[in-house]
Amino acid sequence: HPITTDMATLTREIEKFAQDKKLEIETLKVRETYRKEFLGNVSHELKTPLFTVQGYILTLLDGAIKDKAVRKKYLQRAAKGVERLIYIVRDLDMITKLEVGDLHLDHEEFNIVEVVENSFDLLEMKAAKKNITLTFDMAYEAPIMVRADKERIQQVVTNLVVNSIKYGKLDGTTEVSIENLIKNKVIVRVTDNGEGIEKQHISRLFERFFRVDKSGSRKEGGSGLGLSIVKHIIEAHNEKIYVESVYGIGSEFSFTLEKVEDSEAIR
Ligand code: ADP
Repeated sequence: HPITTDMATLTREIEKFAQDKKLEIETLKVRETYRKEFLGNVSHELKTPLFTVQGYILTLLDGAIKDKAVRKKYLQRAAKGVERLIYIVRDLDMITKLEVGDLHLDHEEFNIVEVVENSFDLLEMKAAKKNITLTFDMAYEAPIMVRADKERIQQVVTNLVVNSIKYGKLDGTTEVSIENLIKNKVIVRVTDNGEGIEKQHISRLFERFFRVDKSGSRKEGGSGLGLSIVKHIIEAHNEKIYVESVYGIGSEFSFTLEKVEDSEAIR
């Protein structure tokens, strides 16, 4: 540090130092509150399935194990609870990596049409259970080449389609479409005609653990982290994600991707 003899300068420097420290402390306090809240949410989320599993095991030990049919049913339910725990821990792991910026993206050129088709194949059965039709804008039968982390984008598409089914109506429809946006961008839209989201909830959708209907969503499974993960992945790509929804009518989640320049020529 240069030696300052001028008193006024020195006072200014001290004041600035104090101000900086104050800001630093404020930031740390906010972060600490955030951390506590997060831990609170995590233990809450874990508790529910843990108690469920414990409940079934204790009931079995209490005598239910003797009845063959009951035994099978309870073991199946316990296994479902464990499966839920695994999903939650996997999502937590993912979100922690994303938030500390620890997630390495593997950029490559791939056909986004193929990724959408993979998600549809994976979720066909789940959709069929609610008689939901998965449709894909067939104007895009030809490949549309984009540059991104294929595996992560696969996860984004799958999460959005899963939600459209989970919050979709019986006999409903989920439609995925891909459009050119500007020269080197495409936009992928996942549209459903499901329950929709009330206006006041929209701005909170991407928050960790946020759910519109706590009990309803829990019945549907999921960790409440899905959309938060989706947003992180898209933003890690420096892309944008949007949501539009009308309560009772349906929702549309969309995100942008970098298109490989001469992708048009391939079509
Ligand atoms: P969850 O595990 O609860 O599905 P998400 O982070 O994926 O967690 O979604 C957060 C909440 O946003 C959901 O609980 C639901 O209330 C709402 N939501 C997400 N997608 C849709 C959709 N397509 N239609 C209506 N509501 C949705």
